[in-house]
Amino acid sequence: MLDEIITQIKNEFEKDIQEADSFKKLEEIRIKYLARNGSVTLLFDKLKEASKEEKPLLGKKLNELRNSVTEKFNSKKELLEKSETSSKEFIDLTLPGRTVKTGSKHILTQTLEEIKQIFKSMGFSVFEGPELESDYYNFEALNFPADHPARDMQDTFFINQKFLLRTHTSPVQIRVMESMQPPVRAIMPGRVYRNEAINARSYCTFQQVEGLYVDTDVTFAELKGTLVSFAKQFYGNSLKYRFRPSFFPFTEPSAEMDITCFICNGKGCRICKNSGWLEILGCGMVDPNVLKYVNYDSEKFVGYAFGMGIERIALLKYGINDIRLFFENDLRFLRQF
Ligand SMILES: [Zn+2]
Repeated sequence: MLDEIITQIKNEFEKDIQEADSFKKLEEIRIKYLARNGSVTLLFDKLKEASKEEKPLLGKKLNELRNSVTEKFNSKKELLEKSETSSKEFIDLTLPGRTVKTGSKHILTQTLEEIKQIFKSMGFSVFEGPELESDYYNFEALNFPADHPARDMQDTFFINQKFLLRTHTSPVQIRVMESMQPPVRAIMPGRVYRNEAINARSYCTFQQVEGLYVDTDVTFAELKGTLVSFAKQFYGNSLKYRFRPSFFPFTEPSAEMDITCFICNGKGCRICKNSGWLEILGCGMVDPNVLKYVNYDSEKFVGYAFGMGIERIALLKYGINDIRLFFENDLRFLRQF
């Protein structure tokens, strides 16, 4: 009789545990079979009613039943726990991913690359020189003799009596001419340093591009033609320009080039200080004294040179009103370009 009940409970349990697919159902099974009033537990009460002869065998069978039920219950519980953990690790492929922000070239790098490209297309090569310069290259060989008042035009960071942070890219002109014979047709970009108060219009460091062409028959008209061609390619064909006489120790004659103010179209505004014009570069014919410093025959060779500030060129092209924005690395500014 008890044998039949054992088999019946066993079969019923097998079916229940097979179908259990949640912790709630598993708990129902525990209560139904294994808890204090569960059918397996209650069977042990019936053992007391059995005869002395039957007891050992029945006891063994009941123990087997309880062990097998407990074992199956536990492995089912383990299985459910595992599947719950793996469902927590499930990756939802429909979720939007993390955006990867693409970097881009700094606006000054872009400007310099554009300038280089234009001059390269006109036959200029690119040279670079050291930022820590000697007084000789930065001043003397460029026709700034010692104690010459023109040295005051550029506030200089001196390292010691002999060395300084270059105040312009012009010393590279000397280095290039020393290294080769004419014809020389080169641009020389690089960082320069001035001991100036920092404000919206000036900074202690900025970049320049220097240009130099030396050959037997170089004319001022050629210089103008080259610079006008550059300005039109860079700022647009419709721009108007003018050349004003100026002074630099290393060029004679010297000039500055202005273009019409792009903000007011020449009518006059705050940016152009009501003149209608914006200065973009300085230029001139290489002073024969400079050619003598590099041992070029100044009777035979003539040259022109020009120089411009990259920051200024970019400020004017993009209508930026504060030079400090270039150096502060504010992403809200940089991402606009
Ligand atoms: Zn203006």
